[in-house]
Amino acid sequence: IEVPDRVIIPYIEGDGIGPEITPAMILVVNKAIEKVYKGSKLIYWVELLAGDKAEAKTGKRMPEETLEFLKEAIVGIKGPLGTPVGKGGKSLNAILRQSMDFYSAIRPVYWLGQPAPIPNPERVNVAVFRENSDDVYMGIEYMPKAEDTKKVREFFVKEMGVDEFALPEDCGITVKPMSEFKTKRHVRKALRWALENGKKVVAVVGKGNIMKATEGAFMNWAFEVAKEEEFKDRVITEGEPKEGQVLLTKVITDQMLMQLVLKPEAYDVIITQNLNGDYISDLAAALVGGPGFVPSGNIGDGYALFESTHGTAYDIAGKGIANPLSLTLSGAMMLEYLGWKEAAQLIYSAIKRAIEDRVGTPDIANGFKKMGIEAKSLSTMDFAQEIVLRM
Ligand code: NAD
Repeated sequence: IEVPDRVIIPYIEGDGIGPEITPAMILVVNKAIEKVYKGSKLIYWVELLAGDKAEAKTGKRMPEETLEFLKEAIVGIKGPLGTPVGKGGKSLNAILRQSMDFYSAIRPVYWLGQPAPIPNPERVNVAVFRENSDDVYMGIEYMPKAEDTKKVREFFVKEMGVDEFALPEDCGITVKPMSEFKTKRHVRKALRWALENGKKVVAVVGKGNIMKATEGAFMNWAFEVAKEEEFKDRVITEGEPKEGQVLLTKVITDQMLMQLVLKPEAYDVIITQNLNGDYISDLAAALVGGPGFVPSGNIGDGYALFESTHGTAYDIAGKGIANPLSLTLSGAMMLEYLGWKEAAQLIYSAIKRAIEDRVGTPDIANGFKKMGIEAKSLSTMDFAQEIVLRM
């Protein structure tokens, strides 16, 4: 994509702590651009309504205008959106991901010096690529004992010869679709990213030995992509990768979960399905202190939406103490996507220095205090200012 020097970037503030962390992210991103490009590059921020704010102003939680504006933009960024319990309706995040066909979710997980639960957390530097448009998230479900479940079950037992023990009368059924087209476009995105970022070991993860038609097929399709013209010389499937090459390997999900905890340094990129991606990206985030320290991006063809990985944190909303790092790091990732890598690097290094100097929001400061290390506890906006000071 051609990126102009002046870009219109839409943002959705988000619910709960959204109005607190979003201004902090905008401050840090603007300052980094100003410092690096000295006025030659600029972002025009445009607020789009969604969630509680949209409902109060328009009566709708996801107005059409928001989706239309996002479709015209190259990138966007959003805070967390709440899903009201018991009101029915799809989650706003699911609406966004599906209507925009953001088919790959990327979550790079690395350690910036914050309190973390494992020894030597600097070993963690892994990007999880989660397929976003397939799998059990499609919501094709048949509830136990419902009329349509009986019909589906009867079809499998009578027409397809499936054992009654496998599908007893009182069972529920969830359908897990996985397609070649959706898998391959996702795998291509992940391999391109791995090559562009000089990564070495890429694991395709799934439980292919049990779910042969879905996760097994996904793993095989990934290896077919490796043989395509674009990748065949650069993606190897055995031996040592040379400069400009990556090694593609297969790892079973349970094995990967164990490896991540015991030997996180073994993998640079993980390519996986929607449900496995959910588990794996949260486990990986936990290794470096939790989702509050990890950015994420939803990528489609030619556009992307970056977002914080945590939820709305209603319990601390309005107190000015929310940790802005997940959204701010997502902002930096957005700059990298635009090709503004120097500004992104400035944000990463300034955050690292702030954490090294033991300043942060109460969750960070308390984490250090629990380890017996003195730390200064700051409000969301003061922490953002401290990051800017270190640029
Ligand atoms: P949550 O992430 O909002 O909160 C879990 C815990 O982590 C809380 O104690 C909270 O205070 C803390 N926490 C979260 N983010 C923090 C931050 N930046 N700084 C300091 N502490 C933080 O998870 P939840 O309570 O399960 O979800 C609340 C709502 O958020 C739900 O409606 C859920 O659907 C929504 N949600 C949205 C997204 C999204 O928009 N991508 C993601 C997850 C959850």
